[in-house]
Amino acid sequence: MVIFKYFDKPEVFTGLKDTASPCDTCGEVKMCFDAELFYGWEELSSICPDCLASGKLYDKNVFTCQGDIEELKGQLKWMNPSLDNEEIHRVAIQKTFELEKTTPHLIKWQDWNWPCADGDYCKFIGYGSKPLYEELAQGASAKDFFRNSFYSIEEYFDHLWDGVLSDKRISNFEDSNKFVSVFYVFRSLHSDRIITIWDCS
Ligand SMILES: [Zn+2]
Repeated sequence: MVIFKYFDKPEVFTGLKDTASPCDTCGEVKMCFDAELFYGWEELSSICPDCLASGKLYDKNVFTCQGDIEELKGQLKWMNPSLDNEEIHRVAIQKTFELEKTTPHLIKWQDWNWPCADGDYCKFIGYGSKPLYEELAQGASAKDFFRNSFYSIEEYFDHLWDGVLSDKRISNFEDSNKFVSVFYVFRSLHSDRIITIWDCS
């Protein structure tokens, strides 16, 4: 499977179409992502993993997600105080373009933006569950780890941990789809920082 910078194992965590179909950019009949879920003016029905990863959407008015660019600019500025605003803007636009044009589509309920950490967009690594946070916490308190991973302030994390978060591992998109509340887990590309975004129908 093709490697994506911002999305781990998309064949498992978002899935490909059930049958082979012609890719709208290379024309080959192969297993493709469902491009009808993408955003933008141009309509595509299928794109193969190779075409998506290699940037075939760059010259189309199509994007697969939306990056949290204002937060990204803030982080870049904080990390590079000597750069002027024009340079920060240029770097942020370039990273956002790469994210939005080469990342498989993440299926979610609400319209939140792709998170960033350490001056870059994060990589989606799976759906949150107690076993996953226990593994990520590496022996520390998994509940504290869960609380500290929220991208925005979450007041009800006790309730989320005790009553909402799955006790069982959620290993693929089909499993995640059985829940009305889903925790999307991301990892920084530049540190061990984990980000959680909670979403519900
Ligand atoms: Zn293709």
